[in-house]
Amino acid sequence: MANVNVDWSKLGFAYQPITQRYVANYKDGKWGKGGLSDDPNVTMNECAGILQYCQEVFEGLKAYKTEEGRTVTFRPDQNAKRMYDSAQRLEMPPVPEEMFLEAVDAVVKANKDWIPPYETGGALYLRPYLFATGPVIGVKPSDEYQFRLFGTPVGNYFKNGIKPITICVSDFDRAAPRGTGHIKAGLNYAMSLHAYITAHNRGYDENMFLDPATRTYVEETGGANFIFVTKDNTIVTPKSSSILPSITRRSLMTIAESLGYKTEHRPVKFDELDEFQEAGLCGTAAVICPVGRIEGKGRTINLPSGMNEMGPVLTKLYKTLRGIQQCKIEAPEAGWVHEVK
Ligand SMILES: *Cc1c(COP(=O)(O)O)cnc(C)c1O
Repeated sequence: MANVNVDWSKLGFAYQPITQRYVANYKDGKWGKGGLSDDPNVTMNECAGILQYCQEVFEGLKAYKTEEGRTVTFRPDQNAKRMYDSAQRLEMPPVPEEMFLEAVDAVVKANKDWIPPYETGGALYLRPYLFATGPVIGVKPSDEYQFRLFGTPVGNYFKNGIKPITICVSDFDRAAPRGTGHIKAGLNYAMSLHAYITAHNRGYDENMFLDPATRTYVEETGGANFIFVTKDNTIVTPKSSSILPSITRRSLMTIAESLGYKTEHRPVKFDELDEFQEAGLCGTAAVICPVGRIEGKGRTINLPSGMNEMGPVLTKLYKTLRGIQQCKIEAPEAGWVHEVK
């Protein structure tokens, strides 16, 4: 096994190369056999499609240790399906679901010593991605691609306690109307960086993108979906064709229904935000990060519940989802927790 020398208590969210990653190449119209590699570097042609026309899609998920020492991943089939859809939108050959799931298990199994212990609250963050390696200069899809999946150990997102964040409405659009906002692709992140840095420089933790066509409806942040709770405890999440379908958000909505909450997936106007009691951001990194204040369009919305801590309804959903991931609470549907043996 690997010589793993990590101070688990100091882990944040940064790249650290681990022993093995999975690599598969697409060439001559088909996927070659994938396998593990100990080389963390990618060498490719200067004219590779990823470098010229940004053909790249990715995923993010975590492998956890449970209290009894089992190793699990959470709904990896959903990541496989989403990356399949993302690849199709960018004219890339989708990675077959079986290959994706085989890569997740192979990398987790080969790097078990890199998974932070249960007590630390950390995880092995897994990054599957697909990018164009073949040369293209005329505008067209590349002929050759690589699928790669590496992992990096990450710390407990709430190491210093759960603190609500502040958000401002972005002056910039992340996505074009009917663009690629609904797929998980590096190009969307490139589009969001300037808005995010601008928000940071103005003293906010995050920024909220509004719908690019009318700037009336709430979309998401650069990397997380919104979840809201009304004063009568209905859970509301924004619906839009340019929001990334977060697996965390969809899981939380299913959990909310199973706990008896009313749920609504519908367009959410910026102007109705002050009717909500709680707000949060959801994604793989934090599960739920509470939002205390939102500013924009000349207004400040202070969420009544959650200025100092996560509100009670989001806390209930958060604890239930974490409990399911830790195999302490039964999932509302079969197949959510996948054990890597
Ligand atoms: C990954 C991502 C999310 C969160 O999705 P999860 O599947 O819950 O991790 C939300 N928005 C964007 C733009 C993303 O890329």
